[in-house]
Amino acid sequence: MAETSATPASLATVHGYPRQGPDRELKKAIEGYWAGRVTADELHDTAARLRRDNWRHLAGAGVREVPTGDFSLYDHVLDTTVMVGAIPERHRAAVEADALDGYFAMARGTQAVAPLEMTKWFDTNYHYLVPELGADTVFTADPAKQVGELREALAQGHSPRPVLVGPVTYLLLAKPAPGMDPGFDPTTLLDRLLPVYVQVLTALRAAGAEWVQLDEPALVQDRDQAVLDAAARAYRELGSLTYRPKILVASYFDRLGEALPVLAEAPIEGLGLDFTGPAAANLNDLARVGGVVGKRLIAGVVDGRNVWINDLERSLSTLATLLGLTDRVDVAASCSLLHVPLDVALEHGVDPQVGRWLAFARQKTAEIVTLARALSEGTGAIAGQLAANRADLASRAASALTHDSAVRARSAAVTPADARRSQPYPERAVAQRARLGLPLLPTTTIGSFPQTTELRAARADLRAGRIDAAAYDERIASEIRSVLVFQEAAGIDVLVHGEPERNDMVQYFAEQLNGYLATQHGWVQSYGTRYVRPPILAGDVSRTEPMTLRWTRYAQSQTARPVKGMLTGPVTMLAWSFVRDDQPLAETARQVALALRDEVADLEAAGTAVIQVDEPALRETLPLRAADRPGYLAWAGEAFRLTTGGVRADTQIHTHMCYAEFGEILAAIDDLDADVISLEAARSHMQVARELAEAGYPREVGPGVYDIHSPRVPGVGEVASLLRKGLDGIPAERLWVNPDCGLKTRGWSEVRDSLDNLVAAAREIRKEVADQPSA
Ligand SMILES: [Zn+2]
Repeated sequence: MAETSATPASLATVHGYPRQGPDRELKKAIEGYWAGRVTADELHDTAARLRRDNWRHLAGAGVREVPTGDFSLYDHVLDTTVMVGAIPERHRAAVEADALDGYFAMARGTQAVAPLEMTKWFDTNYHYLVPELGADTVFTADPAKQVGELREALAQGHSPRPVLVGPVTYLLLAKPAPGMDPGFDPTTLLDRLLPVYVQVLTALRAAGAEWVQLDEPALVQDRDQAVLDAAARAYRELGSLTYRPKILVASYFDRLGEALPVLAEAPIEGLGLDFTGPAAANLNDLARVGGVVGKRLIAGVVDGRNVWINDLERSLSTLATLLGLTDRVDVAASCSLLHVPLDVALEHGVDPQVGRWLAFARQKTAEIVTLARALSEGTGAIAGQLAANRADLASRAASALTHDSAVRARSAAVTPADARRSQPYPERAVAQRARLGLPLLPTTTIGSFPQTTELRAARADLRAGRIDAAAYDERIASEIRSVLVFQEAAGIDVLVHGEPERNDMVQYFAEQLNGYLATQHGWVQSYGTRYVRPPILAGDVSRTEPMTLRWTRYAQSQTARPVKGMLTGPVTMLAWSFVRDDQPLAETARQVALALRDEVADLEAAGTAVIQVDEPALRETLPLRAADRPGYLAWAGEAFRLTTGGVRADTQIHTHMCYAEFGEILAAIDDLDADVISLEAARSHMQVARELAEAGYPREVGPGVYDIHSPRVPGVGEVASLLRKGLDGIPAERLWVNPDCGLKTRGWSEVRDSLDNLVAAAREIRKEVADQPSA
């Protein structure tokens, strides 16, 4: 490798960078604009300053080609919708009246007009705004944002590479516009969309772009021949333009698979490939197609979506192999650095030893530059960095934090029987019926009750030292009492304590479990101006003491009705955290499951008869490629059953998921062997009940009858009619009555009226069932 300096020098680059600024300046400016405190000019100035600082930082660190156009005031897919002129009809007037206000109206809606739908960006925790396209969609090019940011970077003396969402991915991310045939396939619009990309590429070339990057992450999923043909056609057409920038097509999050030969043969000048995680298979696949000789390759060897330092030697070995497969190899992170926090140096609360194992966007940038330097100048040029990296990796591997022998021994001793209830469901159902004595169609809620301003004030008072822990606890106890009194008066059968003590369903547990780290500034964009601080799963996981027992027991002491114990499941505890990359996810999940299993046992021993283990993330963590899914579902299911499998037959295990479309995970949901599952169903008119019935789902189901995403109060007749639909698929002995999801974001007055109606409807339907002659 030391002899590679005869080949063109390797560049360091990135696909994208965190947008918000070190102190979340962008969030503050945008929210200030919405509140009328910040003018449009001030907002644009802040945005321009953040872009300038990012480019300056990247260039200063040694990144030779900086991305432009990756910056966004809300979302880069929404920016693409603007760029191709696919403004939904209902937003057109607002966009024409004021481009900025119209942009935010598409993102957030207004009193009169609904926003675009939001969904997850592949298997990350970033959410994008879903384009709405129809047979009558007319695309028009609006390259202003892309051209403007390119000019800014050029004027500041940088070598910019505009980054755009590619045309095939844009269409694959879209959904049929409201009123369109739901079977409409947006990819049929490709021939109409390509001329717009031609105009944008031409405008960027004219403004001085040497290269343009088109991101096609949608091609890393299983795609049929029609999509592969569309990709081939798109890049043949764009590649055949005579006046255009050089085109680089980037993919990330997984292997390109069958799309790799398509892009390798396309008349484009560069490819960006991910070589981390499941995408490492790209290396063999690239060799199999004979490499991409004549093309520039941007090698994503630094993991762009996790927070750990790179193994520089391993990356150098990957890069050395790649040098034989193409003419020029540049070094990058696997994907945009949007998905990691900005800077480890801001984390003063993290043990310095552990801090050396962490790499956020700034540290990853330095790793990329180091690797590119080794390619250009030989590994001797980075001898110091290599030695330090080896030492940091060794300290992580040998640390007591990552190797707790008690945790390891317990995990190794797990047997298949530990992850299985001792009795089959029919026997458990009899025992649970006898213990709980619930009516037909029992009523319950999903867990949380409205987080009032008083509660938020109490938390702030505690943090600020205005009240002590005892006073705070009394406020929590009083809130629990009032939530219980309300539920009893409303006539709900299985109660919850309302979770007033919990800040977040993952963070609350992460703060109490050994092996998790919290950050102070580790903000990552979830959507728009919403940022989250995912905890970091850094070491072996164990529980020092019970986490939920105290308030669950207190709540149960206040009422004769059953109060549910409420836990977050192991898959969700991983999905909404940064996870370890030094052991299989299955092992991390098993450790979390064992810690939660102890909590379940403590709750049961304290007399809790109903324990709910939420797994809203089960589906969203599904691998992008179908071939990887059975393996994932096997360990995910095992982790859930390990959490819940140790309880007695008469302890009822509930689970909750926040969605209604199961498709391929229906068998996996059955495999959880939960006694009761609650799901979102109100908007889909109980479709999930029919699907579960068709699949022969044998256990109890609570399809939601109250849409909690809306402040609207459902009427008694409406809930009753949903329950009748539920009874078409699920017999009365196995049907529960509950809202779609937790009530945390709703106001008390709507919740009161809605739950009153829910209970009244359940009573009405119970009477109907009782009056029917039994079969
Ligand atoms: Zn939910």
